[in-house]
Amino acid sequence: MSDQGRVDRQLFDQVMVPNYSPGPIIPVKGQGSRVWDQSGKEYIDFAGGIAVTALGHCHPRMVQALKDQSEKLWHLANVLANEPALALAKTLTDLTFADKVFFCNSGAEANEAAFKLARKYGYEAFGAYKNEIVACKQSFHGRTLFTVSVGGQLKYREGFEPTPGGIAHGQFNQLDSFAQLVSERTCAIVVEPVQGEGGVVPADPAFLQGLRSLADQHQALLIFDEVQTGAGRTGHLYAYQGYQVTPDVLSTAKGLGGGIPIGAMLTREQFAKHLGLGTHGSTYGGNPLACAVAHAVIEEITKPEVMQAVASKHEYFMSHFKGFMDRYDCFAEARGKGLLLGLELNAAWQGRAKAFVQAALEQGLLLLVAGPNVLRFAPSLVISEQELEEGINRLDAAINHVVTGDNP
Ligand SMILES: *Cc1c(COP(=O)(O)O)cnc(C)c1O
Repeated sequence: MSDQGRVDRQLFDQVMVPNYSPGPIIPVKGQGSRVWDQSGKEYIDFAGGIAVTALGHCHPRMVQALKDQSEKLWHLANVLANEPALALAKTLTDLTFADKVFFCNSGAEANEAAFKLARKYGYEAFGAYKNEIVACKQSFHGRTLFTVSVGGQLKYREGFEPTPGGIAHGQFNQLDSFAQLVSERTCAIVVEPVQGEGGVVPADPAFLQGLRSLADQHQALLIFDEVQTGAGRTGHLYAYQGYQVTPDVLSTAKGLGGGIPIGAMLTREQFAKHLGLGTHGSTYGGNPLACAVAHAVIEEITKPEVMQAVASKHEYFMSHFKGFMDRYDCFAEARGKGLLLGLELNAAWQGRAKAFVQAALEQGLLLLVAGPNVLRFAPSLVISEQELEEGINRLDAAINHVVTGDNP
């Protein structure tokens, strides 16, 4: 397909499975928080590839790490260890509660590993009866059969039944509903510190503390799905560090690679031992290219000035969101942590979030939704002041277009 004219949005409908419905433009280049499409039109990126491009597009450190590693070693499989994977695992264990790391390629796989570990832990440490996983309604944990089953949204598993059993769902942020579901049969409680796909809803600190106590009381593992909240997104390397509630198992992906596919499950030694030799694996897990890039990402993100700037950029967004709420009668709430932000539409605008994303695209701004009623923002953690300001101006124009019914 060297003929550029033939690689257009229409080709998607011809050759791709219709599980996605991408927008009308095709971006071809990115730098920092700017992206250009095939026609050369420029966009400010407030979407960050869904909380993935934590350092923006083509960050020089990442480009260098990928170039360097690409001339050394690409792949060995897990029959042999490799330096980038070991170095990254060492860094992740140094910076978190974890002693042990399992590498894979995506968030769903990191959760799959976490859930399998929980089952194996229950089975080996207690008995086959200890197999129940208690998760949250409206949660999202990925698209494999196990992860859509643990996930709390029916629409993602409807038609794919029979799904794995032994899974129950409590109400997010309602500890009572978990107290009823968790028992000696529970092997794990699973929660996102901020529900991402579920509408950018932060957990109450007391809820996470309560889940920690319930897990301890019933000797169940507490699993934090930090696929979206991890890698600096909330202003801490991992959100649990801001909540000061420590899980037993943590899944991370998205921002960890900054744009290269990688996922990881982090845990403590006493739980890790239950995924013994031959119990689990992944051909590409720990791939040297991916690990070399992720290592560069983690080193950049954990610079104090980067984490501090996340907090001030959060304030910048929130103050402009408040301004929009004063000026436009379409928003009900602005919320989020760090640079994972949600702007919820009010009752009169229910179901219209996509219209704002379309208008933003026309104004030169990439935006996300989180469900039908919430605009979601997950920009680069190192987005510049100028990019921020331009993005906010374009957002203002987009909102204005939608609410005044103006068609550009
Ligand atoms: C995106 C996401 C996943 C799934 O990650 P993939 O890389 O798409 O498999 C799992 N959990 C959460 C919280 C996510 O946001």
